[in-house]
Amino acid sequence: MRVNISRRRIKDPFVKKVEELSGQNLLACYQCGKCSAGCPAVSQMDILPNQIIRLAQLGLKEELLESKAIWVCASCMTCNTRCPKGINIAEVIEAVRLILLRKSKDHLIVKELSAEERAQVPPIALISSMRKFTS
Ligand code: SF4
Ligand code: SF4
Repeated sequence: MRVNISRRRIKDPFVKKVEELSGQNLLACYQCGKCSAGCPAVSQMDILPNQIIRLAQLGLKEELLESKAIWVCASCMTCNTRCPKGINIAEVIEAVRLILLRKSKDHLIVKELSAEERAQVPPIALISSMRKFTS
C-alpha cells in the first residue's frame, strides 16, 4: 500500500473521533504485531489489525474506511488480551465501523445473502454483523 503521510492527515478530526469512540490512545501502539499474530480472522483480512491501528494513527481514513478487514473482524477480543500496551484494538475497529455505519454504510448485508451463502458464513460472523447495528 502506497500512502502519503502528512501533518494535516495526522491532525485530521477523524483520528480524534476514533480515539473518542474507542476510548483508546492510538499513539500508544508501537507496532509489535502481537495483535495480528493472534487474530483468528487474519487470513481473510486485506490489512492486519496492527496496520489498522497504524492507519488510524496516521489519519489515513480513506484507506481504513475502504478496508475489508474492519468488517471481517469478529470482535472476539483476542487482540485486546495480547497487546502489551493495553490497547483495545477491537474497540478501535468498532469505532471505525461506527463512523461508517453512521453514514449508513455496511459491507455485509445479511438479508442480501443467498441461503447457500448464509449456510457457509460462520455463525459468529452473522452475530457480529447484527451486533454492529446495536452498538
Ligand atoms: S499488540 Fe498493541 S502495541 Fe502491538 S501492534 Fe497491536 S495494538 Fe500495537
Ligand atoms: S477482535 Fe477482531 S482484530 Fe481482534 S483478534 Fe478478534 S477478529 Fe482479530
